[in-house]
Amino acid sequence: MTENKVAIVTGASRGIGNAIAAKLAGEGYAIVAVGTSDREKVSANLHNIQKAGTRFAYVQADVSTDAGRQSIVNCAMEQFGRIDVLVNNAGVAPKVRMDILETTEESMDRVLGINLKSTFFLSQAVANIMRWEVAEIPGITPKIVNISSISAYTSSTMRAEYCISKAAISMVTMLFADRLADEGINVYEIRPGVINTDMTSVVKEKYDALISNGLTPIKRWGQPEDVANAVSVVCSGLLNFSTGEVINVDGGFHIRRL
Ligand code: NAP
Repeated sequence: MTENKVAIVTGASRGIGNAIAAKLAGEGYAIVAVGTSDREKVSANLHNIQKAGTRFAYVQADVSTDAGRQSIVNCAMEQFGRIDVLVNNAGVAPKVRMDILETTEESMDRVLGINLKSTFFLSQAVANIMRWEVAEIPGITPKIVNISSISAYTSSTMRAEYCISKAAISMVTMLFADRLADEGINVYEIRPGVINTDMTSVVKEKYDALISNGLTPIKRWGQPEDVANAVSVVCSGLLNFSTGEVINVDGGFHIRRL
């Protein structure tokens, strides 16, 4: 069933995106994996995806640039001829955590460019191809999946630009879900909590303590595979009457407690 399906996963060279791409490859998708790293440097991680044996391409591209996004779309269409799933996962934290009273314009532009602008314009470019596919390819049900964060609604005053980028991804999800419903394209937001990756390795001890002290009802770190499983569910088609949906993958962090 999935043997001809194609998924683009941004930020697939490491962490959550790598697990998502590996999961979808295991389900038969051809994968266009995106990262800024040299292929050689991340070859072991890419092997996690390639070992499924499905068709595979790695695009070294910066998603915050128009040229980078175009090269991703061109690769998918030239090598595989269709796009069934786009996962907007690539993201960065600020290089330096700074109080909101000190946040620089440079850091704001960088974080919004990589996390937010890329999600909007890659969705736009891919949605225009998916619209055409829905008319041309019988039975295709394309999906766009945006990886946001609990930071979409949780204040961290030392990384405001990150929180703002993730809150805005929630609106990008709603806007595209609304606009694309009539086109036969569903759009979802996956909202991870604290996940064990390079991004959180710098604050590992802090989160170890918070988690054991009850930060989340489910007292463990999230793993990249937890997020990958949620992406797999929305891509499965079992949620085809749901769009604009937010799936929390956060150990219950979002539950208000007394
Ligand atoms: P990570 O381990 O730091 O990996 C980030 C990925 O994004 C890497 O593959 C990186 O590729 C790619 N990337 C960064 N800048 C890019 C750019 N300009 N163009 C293309 N690719 C770029 O981070 P992660 O923890 O897996 O996070 C993945 C997503 O989940 C992010 O959107 C993050 O905000 C979100 N998230 C993470 C957590 C968490 O606790 N870890 C929680 C909530 C949400 P290269 O290294 O090759 O550049």
